[in-house]
Amino acid sequence: MRIRVKMTRAGNIARHGEGIAELDLEEYLCGVVPAEIGEGSHGDALRAQAVAARTFALRRVLAGIVVDDTTSFQAYRAELLDCSPRSREAVADTAGMVLVYGGDVIDCYYSASNGGVTKRSGEVWSRDYPYYMNKADPWDVAARLERPKAASHGVGMSQVGCMWAAGHGVPYHEILAFYYDGAALVREYGGGGVVSFEEDMEGVRGLHLHKLIFTENACYKAGRRIVPKGIMVHSTGVDNPWLRRYVGLDDGLLGMNKYNNHWNQAMPSGRQVCVHGFIGKLADGTVATYQTLPWDWRGWHCGSGPKGSGNDSYISFEICEDGLADAAYFHEVYREAVELCVYLCGLYGFTEENIICHSEGHERGIASNHEDVMHWFPRHGESMDSFRAAVRERLVGGSGGSGGNGNGSGLPGGNGGGSAGASGSGVMYRVRRSWADAASQKGAFRVLDYARRCADENAGYSVFDDSGKLVYAGKSSVMYTVGEHDTLWGIAARFLGSGKRYPEIMEANGLRSDVIRAGMVLRIPD
Ligand SMILES: [Zn+2]
Repeated sequence: MRIRVKMTRAGNIARHGEGIAELDLEEYLCGVVPAEIGEGSHGDALRAQAVAARTFALRRVLAGIVVDDTTSFQAYRAELLDCSPRSREAVADTAGMVLVYGGDVIDCYYSASNGGVTKRSGEVWSRDYPYYMNKADPWDVAARLERPKAASHGVGMSQVGCMWAAGHGVPYHEILAFYYDGAALVREYGGGGVVSFEEDMEGVRGLHLHKLIFTENACYKAGRRIVPKGIMVHSTGVDNPWLRRYVGLDDGLLGMNKYNNHWNQAMPSGRQVCVHGFIGKLADGTVATYQTLPWDWRGWHCGSGPKGSGNDSYISFEICEDGLADAAYFHEVYREAVELCVYLCGLYGFTEENIICHSEGHERGIASNHEDVMHWFPRHGESMDSFRAAVRERLVGGSGGSGGNGNGSGLPGGNGGGSAGASGSGVMYRVRRSWADAASQKGAFRVLDYARRCADENAGYSVFDDSGKLVYAGKSSVMYTVGEHDTLWGIAARFLGSGKRYPEIMEANGLRSDVIRAGMVLRIPD
């Protein structure tokens, strides 16, 4: 793939000559990524930037547009080509990967900062694209608290938010998924229709994760979101282990679905069904996982019971059943399911205790009366208890040098909240009444946005980081901005009726000392 670039900067003209140069697209990106986000950025920030820049460029190449080397398109600096090995590596890591929506390469914008709220493109320009949504961007906010930055157009990825998230352990594909809502990351550009990729996840060994989002399914189009609180394991109940039966669309790995009865349509076989993923066989007979809904979309997988619906809080996946007698196939998909759960636990701060199967959901009154997976697992000597134990072992034990990066660390202990001695590069955000009140914990999340939503749903709850620092106070709380001559004693006297109660304010805000400064925002406890 080649791109035509009009050279205007002196350094570029020195390298490529005056006028329009035709460059290899991947080589061009090696001069864009360091110019746009900086060679020193975290690897996942560089990878996210590489995908965004490639997508922006490809859409213009396909439209026959000549770009230039300035920020009116994307900054390109030839002099960085030979001295930016990390950017070059990020381009190679993501070779050919672009973002698509509904089969089209998206119009991929990004900017230095969005000021804390992502913008719809229609607010800024004339065209409204479905993948640009108006929502709070806690990464951008956190980044600018550390280092102020003026907001720019704010459509698509915030570069400061991206850098902050990457620095806090969020992988590049999750960063892209946040900023380009519902867009899918595809491995190959140009051909169209290839909608899969294998994620490279440090620390999650043996998970063969691909992505093909069911953008045509009515459930996807309903677009309702949940704060995931656990994982519900299903199995299909039909003898058909092939992923193509459900995931459909031959991406070169799945094989042809001759009957066109996959679930990437409004109502598969006339039913309102949709899950977040499937585990089964690729065309070559090997076992893999496909993610088919964004993890925090509300799925249609378990119906409901007298106590509500698990659809409102569970991430769901189906294991494709075969005739149930084949031990080799069973142990393959069982192992893959354990790995998928380990991955999701890492993303959302779950433990094995957050995992149930469909029939357990029925027992708890939140799902329809199905027996999966308990009609199958025991035939091969397993159960949901042994399944949870296997997940726990991977989370806590980190079997055989799994890198210890990105998962298994900082598990939310029910009390004490100890981080199990693991190193843990990612911050865990805990939702509690106060940092000291560990027993009040509603959840622990790797993604700040989810923690904030959880706090908002529970009056009086706030979000704390690993060190106990208050990160978000919850929208139902009384907030007070400290003035020049304020003291903790005075604030306690004013809001709590007695200066002696100042330690409660310290505790609610995770303060280690009683020194406060003007401009600090404090949550006033109830
Ligand atoms: Zn089920």
